[in-house]
Amino acid sequence: MYLSRRKALLLLGSSCVSLLSGVAGASSGFDLGLQGQEFLAKGKFKEAIKVLQEAVKIEPNNEWLWGLLGRAYFQLKDMRAALSSFRKVLSLNPEDTYSRMMIDIISQKPLPPRREEKKKKLTPLEKKALEEERRIFAKLASKQGLGYNIKRIVLDPGHGGFDSGAVGLHRLEEKNVNLDVAKRTAQILNQYNSNLKIFFTRTEDYFVPLSARTTTANQYCADLFVSFHVNANRNRKPRGMETYFCSERASSKEAARVAKFENSVLKLEKTELVQKGYVDIEQILFLFERKRYWEAGGKVASYLQSALKKDLPLKNRGVHSANFYVLRRAKMPSILLELGFISNPEEERLLSHVDFRHKLAYSVAKGILALQNVTI
Ligand SMILES: [Zn+2]
Repeated sequence: MYLSRRKALLLLGSSCVSLLSGVAGASSGFDLGLQGQEFLAKGKFKEAIKVLQEAVKIEPNNEWLWGLLGRAYFQLKDMRAALSSFRKVLSLNPEDTYSRMMIDIISQKPLPPRREEKKKKLTPLEKKALEEERRIFAKLASKQGLGYNIKRIVLDPGHGGFDSGAVGLHRLEEKNVNLDVAKRTAQILNQYNSNLKIFFTRTEDYFVPLSARTTTANQYCADLFVSFHVNANRNRKPRGMETYFCSERASSKEAARVAKFENSVLKLEKTELVQKGYVDIEQILFLFERKRYWEAGGKVASYLQSALKKDLPLKNRGVHSANFYVLRRAKMPSILLELGFISNPEEERLLSHVDFRHKLAYSVAKGILALQNVTI
């Protein structure tokens, strides 16, 4: 008897929620929360705020309600209110990575140019190298408008938090390399072109769902999305770097394997999304325009890979394409870099060195700046 009743409720799916809430009465915080969630999904943000404000009055310690309210404010660009709502969620549940990410996104500002340089005394040789470096970048930056005019870039350090990504023989974790190289890239980009607005999908070691990463990029209306990764293989021999762009079908078996690994965290995300009661954002995403973005992503990938191969002492593994979840919904050209193999002991050693990571960042930044001369 109990079983069949439970089954019946499950079969009712979403309609069972309204049946249950009907019993609880229209004024319950949960009920208002559901209404707010529905408004959010339909893009009716003002209506969502109205019911959610009522909901948090009834249940001021309900983190789910505060999270929904934060999202509604964020959509209406009321950043102050969004920030205080997401902070409220964190005060109730410090483990909520989504709110932490949103706080980070809202409070993020383009990075100021590096200052330590002035303080550091340079040798004549270093000074000359720096001048030369500046000259190259100034030349690249001055050619804006000839090709692809990039004003806003989202840098996406892959993995984070419980998702360490690939791990090397000596326990170097991919998530940390990705974050460090992405931050250095931003610093170098801003140093040479202070007009660029650079945003991150994460700035610390915490988990960010794949879906949230491209959503962030889309909200920022970025011109370019660059996802930073390091490759791995069960076999310790493979080495080198490659650049990916998104396509429906993988360009090779190896490309399919890499995409499968990078998409694998999705299994964990599903449960988290359901548990937290997030709206499925898939429905709001575009379908028609993406072919154009993917083609542009292919051009960016080719250009960047050829820039990297000139600069870096890593084997050139070329450009490939596959169905990467993190790229497929970006409303802009997007690429994914695999900067070496953490599973290869020699490359793991290189990747663990700050100097080498800086070199990687320098080459990526240089490649991005040079993109301005490419017609996409
Ligand atoms: Zn990865």
